[in-house]
Amino acid sequence: MSSNAQDNLETRLVHGASSKEVTGDKTGAVNVPIYLSSTYHQENFDTLGTYDYSRSGNPTRDALEKSVADLEGGTRGFAFASGMAAITSAFMLLSAGDHVVVTNDVYGGTFRFVTKILGKFNIEHTFVDMTDLKELEKAIQSNTKLIYMETPSNPLLKITDIKGVVELAKANDCFTFLDNTFMTPLYQRPLELGVDIVLHSATKFLSGHSDIIAGLAITKDPELGDELAFVQNTFGSILGAQDSFLLIQGIKTMKARLNESSKSAEKIATYLDQQEIVEAVYYPGLASHPGFDIHNSQSTSGGALLSFRLPDREAAKAFVENIRIPVFAVSLGAVETILSYPATMSHAAMPKEERAKRGITDGLLRLSVGLENVDDLLADMKQALDAAVAASKVERVY
Ligand SMILES: *Cc1c(COP(=O)(O)O)cnc(C)c1O
Repeated sequence: MSSNAQDNLETRLVHGASSKEVTGDKTGAVNVPIYLSSTYHQENFDTLGTYDYSRSGNPTRDALEKSVADLEGGTRGFAFASGMAAITSAFMLLSAGDHVVVTNDVYGGTFRFVTKILGKFNIEHTFVDMTDLKELEKAIQSNTKLIYMETPSNPLLKITDIKGVVELAKANDCFTFLDNTFMTPLYQRPLELGVDIVLHSATKFLSGHSDIIAGLAITKDPELGDELAFVQNTFGSILGAQDSFLLIQGIKTMKARLNESSKSAEKIATYLDQQEIVEAVYYPGLASHPGFDIHNSQSTSGGALLSFRLPDREAAKAFVENIRIPVFAVSLGAVETILSYPATMSHAAMPKEERAKRGITDGLLRLSVGLENVDDLLADMKQALDAAVAASKVERVY
């Protein structure tokens, strides 16, 4: 049971993490064992083994890390206790006096880290609309060390031209990080486009079952990999062995899950786009999406996530109160469809005017499409939209 570099990604998703490769396991166990061991007996006084302490390395985590490095086309993978642990650990590569440019509609936790923590270490930041490379270029300073991307972005699924940003970064001697949570390596492989570090909240599509919190970072350049390994071991926010096992299991079914969910998401986006009460649909798989061409050039699917805008809060509230199948919750990327309300969930900390400026209105809803029958989902959406029409305070003739 193993895969090699010539195999297609789908094959490597299933066979990528093998205990034989990592530990020399001779039992033939199909699954990687969960090594619940903090410390490791050393051979003798002079010879120390591969493992010494599980913060520095654990066989189960190792199997996961090797497999995700391969899936992203990198050389090193790092598994962390959460997506935020992966992201903040990667930021630890910066030094006081550096400046970072960050995409405007970055994930809320990353926004909080950049605005509330980085400054304490004398690292400056500038937010830009990264769909506009000219604006990005203007924001680059002599001390800029990092350009931070997220594409598609949250919650409006805006598209950044990855190659364009990488070119600008290289010309200005900056690193690039990209949060690839929404696309996963199945649909978008940023290292191949020249990005330095790919980051994931593996809590989402990679694990896929709303069970664990996990994060990943993947590098291609060996020197950068060594530096990040040093940070991981020093900072210590590693993923535990049991969660590493669950993530390995989640990754094996990712292709089937994500392809099915994405097909349904496209159908739902198309349906919503035709409904008069829906003022806008944000889905990079729709030809009407302003980033459609760029997204198509760097990704192989529109993905399983979409947002849509109803006229007002009353309509959104009625929709949520009447929808039956989706879970109404934060998070995304799971087998169950998850509906969330950015205004009070992911973007609650943002003043209403700031939210409005960014298009995160009181009528905006985000849908992470799961594995339910799509006709059941469509019928459910239809009856919830009827309730939204009845509840909306906005005068319209439908
Ligand atoms: C959820 C999420 C994160 C944070 O990951 P956690 O696992 O919750 O720490 C970062 N980026 C994106 C795009 C996310 O959706």
